[in-house]
Amino acid sequence: MLESQPADLAPYWMPFTANRDFKANPRLLVSAEGMYYRDVHGNSVLDGAAGLWCVPLGHAQPKIVQAVQTMVAQLDFAPSFQMGHPAAFELAERLDQYTNKRFGKFFYTNSGSEAVDTALKIALAYHRARGDAARTRLIGRERGYHGVGFGGMSVGGIAGNRKTFGSLLPGVDHLPHTHNLEQNSYSRGEPEWGSHLADELERIVALHDASTIAAVIVEPVAGSTGVLVPPKGYLKRLREICTKHGILLIFDEVITGFGRLTTPFAFDYFDVEPDMVTTAKGLTNGTVPMGAVFVKQRIHDAFMYGPAGIELFHGYTYSGHPLACAAGLATLEVFEEQKVLEHARGMAGYWEEAVHSLKGLPHVVDLRSIGLIAGIELAPIAGKPGARAFEAFKRAFEQGVLIRVTGDIIALSPPLILEKKHVDELFGKLRDILKTLP
Ligand code: PMP
Repeated sequence: MLESQPADLAPYWMPFTANRDFKANPRLLVSAEGMYYRDVHGNSVLDGAAGLWCVPLGHAQPKIVQAVQTMVAQLDFAPSFQMGHPAAFELAERLDQYTNKRFGKFFYTNSGSEAVDTALKIALAYHRARGDAARTRLIGRERGYHGVGFGGMSVGGIAGNRKTFGSLLPGVDHLPHTHNLEQNSYSRGEPEWGSHLADELERIVALHDASTIAAVIVEPVAGSTGVLVPPKGYLKRLREICTKHGILLIFDEVITGFGRLTTPFAFDYFDVEPDMVTTAKGLTNGTVPMGAVFVKQRIHDAFMYGPAGIELFHGYTYSGHPLACAAGLATLEVFEEQKVLEHARGMAGYWEEAVHSLKGLPHVVDLRSIGLIAGIELAPIAGKPGARAFEAFKRAFEQGVLIRVTGDIIALSPPLILEKKHVDELFGKLRDILKTLP
């Protein structure tokens, strides 16, 4: 076990990290259990971010550990083309039950980014399979994050993630984001104002004509850009407009899937049925990389039985990796056996009160909460966007709490198994940090 700091940190080019800053003062985690990490110095770190929104069941869940260990000794790898293994089929069947048979087909990937690119490709190929090949346009949203593949980057709406990579996919348009501090500050659950912003989709349809549009993709709650909760009625309206124009609606549930809003998926919470759902992270409780696309049966059937009669020419070497499938099956079992969603629902009120108890503290300009998510928006330091929240992140880690920051927003998403004492510890420390931030 590597439990001490490696002598040379230089060769590893870290993702999405201020590499120079990190290597001058590294934060290294060496183990994890339940609600806590342990760092290289032996300090315990409360996980306020479920890793990276990945670990709804807490760390080192014995059942998942056991399932992965058993599988690696039994079947370390199986080719994903023209071959299968039972766990991959079993997991799809379990996902079918978990989603009340509303989708019917499950395609495996290894990450959220791959799930997004897969869903976009399925959307394009679906229309072609139906003989509607002019539908090639994809619609995303400003401030949307859909991973780092060229498809996901193109429909994503984060300037910083796009600007150094050329012209990206052609034929992509973006809805406006729904974040508005003047109208919706300090919201609990869905904000009141803004459902009319969904009508912007009608404007985009009028501009390009519905016959050219394949799909709309949105995160039900945008996480990576700072917990942007959809206004009441907004997602339903998007659904109506998509249905009216024959456009597929894709929900990117990479962070909202598997209980984050205290329901299995965000589409349950908002009672809106998308045509496809992209997931990852909580699917295996973060233990083994895995993503998936949930696909409506009729979309799949258009390939099989449509005029073109084609298969989907797409997939990954590690699609449905045996270890990932074992972890996924164990994850779903733990969700059920330990009644994790019931527990999360029981905690949601306490969580909401704790989030909003930060109102009035220095620098706090907005607080928003939904399910077991919180966004704490700080006023930026003039000329240094993101610097204040980044300082909060570093201080929090020093004080034994892992939080996630994006711009000047702190995004919290603890494991769903947390207890009141963890909420108290997290917000107690945050309160102290906010009081002393520059
Ligand atoms: N979609 C959403 C909504 C996400 O939040 C993320 C990751 N945070 C992704 C896609 C990309 O997932 P991955 O990093 O596993 O590729």
